[in-house]
Amino acid sequence: MKRFVWLCFVLGLALAAAPVHVVRPGETLYRIARNYGVPLEVLAAANGIRNVNLIRTGQKLVIPSEPGWPEAWGLRVDPWPPVQGRPAVFRVPPGVTAVRVFNLQVPAARGVALVPVPADTRPGLHPFALEGAGLKGELLVAAGGYASENIVLSEEKNALLDRERIRAEKARLLEACGPWTPEPLWRGPWRWPLDRVEETSAFGTRRSYNGRPGGWHGGVDLRGQEGTPVYAPAAGVVGLSDQLYVRGGAVVLHHGLGVCSGYYHLSERAVEPGQKVQRGDLLGYVGATGLVTGPHLHWEVRLLGQTTDPAAFIRPRLWAQLAPAAASSR
Ligand SMILES: [Zn+2]
Repeated sequence: MKRFVWLCFVLGLALAAAPVHVVRPGETLYRIARNYGVPLEVLAAANGIRNVNLIRTGQKLVIPSEPGWPEAWGLRVDPWPPVQGRPAVFRVPPGVTAVRVFNLQVPAARGVALVPVPADTRPGLHPFALEGAGLKGELLVAAGGYASENIVLSEEKNALLDRERIRAEKARLLEACGPWTPEPLWRGPWRWPLDRVEETSAFGTRRSYNGRPGGWHGGVDLRGQEGTPVYAPAAGVVGLSDQLYVRGGAVVLHHGLGVCSGYYHLSERAVEPGQKVQRGDLLGYVGATGLVTGPHLHWEVRLLGQTTDPAAFIRPRLWAQLAPAAASSR
């Protein structure tokens, strides 16, 4: 499909340019599409509508306009539209200090903000603002298409979970991620932390425990035998290397730009807090420590504290979007 513009800006005086349509009584999607000169299927796709006969009065529809429209305001967003659970690179106009969206404030450096889209963000329109430039708009978020799974825990095991320790452990991880810093510490696409990659549970999978909703899987599980080496996927600094309650043998790296990565259930750790690591350096070995049923690596990437799909960092595309800003800092 063509790259249509699915972003709507409400720029002070330029209200007339805002391509959002509020459905009036009696209107059909077909008629709205015809009035705006947009193909019906494109209008439906841009708004996540599966059945074109099911629209309701008052519903807000994004009207895809001509390509190149947001560039006129000096903004580019990649991927387009942003997707639940994946990072999005905002290339912002001069003077913009931060992007405010999804109740987060994401600082911009050298014209780029790396924005997390939390995995539970509702698909559809979300208000956002470009701080420092007085720009406001609405951003369309696309569904990530995540699967669901039910995990059966014995009631006995469930009762043993110490909620307070779980909370304290998470707070430590977030602290180990460190504050946002304007420089990425890495260059180029990341590698997988294991030499042989077999995913046993994907990022974003909606989970329920004994039938009760329990959030989503915040990382990827990689199959690995006990003792398989775990490598740093990208350069960074060790923020934590310790034995934890739920996560067992744990290493957390921070990578700058608000990005950190975690390696859990390790049998052995090979790094110390404060140590600098390069892409490919040994971090430790796969194990079955913490609350697990068998050996595997849980690999997690957080952006400003939000879990985000690690595979996005491996694809060359993300770095290609970030690189011009990183290069200009040298
Ligand atoms: Zn996992």
